[in-house]
Amino acid sequence: MPETYAPKHRDYPLSKLNDTMRLVRVRCRYCKRLHNYAPSDLIQIFGDVDVDSLAFRIKCENGKDHGRLEVEAFVPTGREAVGLRIRRLVAIKINRVPIWREDPA
Ligand SMILES: [Zn+2]
Repeated sequence: MPETYAPKHRDYPLSKLNDTMRLVRVRCRYCKRLHNYAPSDLIQIFGDVDVDSLAFRIKCENGKDHGRLEVEAFVPTGREAVGLRIRRLVAIKINRVPIWREDPA
């Protein structure tokens, strides 16, 4: 069994996981999608937020209506660490949205 850490108190920021080599596992109950993330990647997107709050911030990539995701910090141990795939951040694409205004001629 993987060692898990279930923070029941507030304010457990992602940066704290970085320090202890933990990863963040995100699982969708609806479609069983599961990904492991490096805390440093998540910080780039969400900032150094509380780990528990990610359940509300991350949306399932298979559908935004899949509801709240399961989020847990864990340390990959022994056998589990072998072949463990980590979803790494490649780039953050920023949408450019034009905003228009009607000016009198
Ligand atoms: Zn899903």
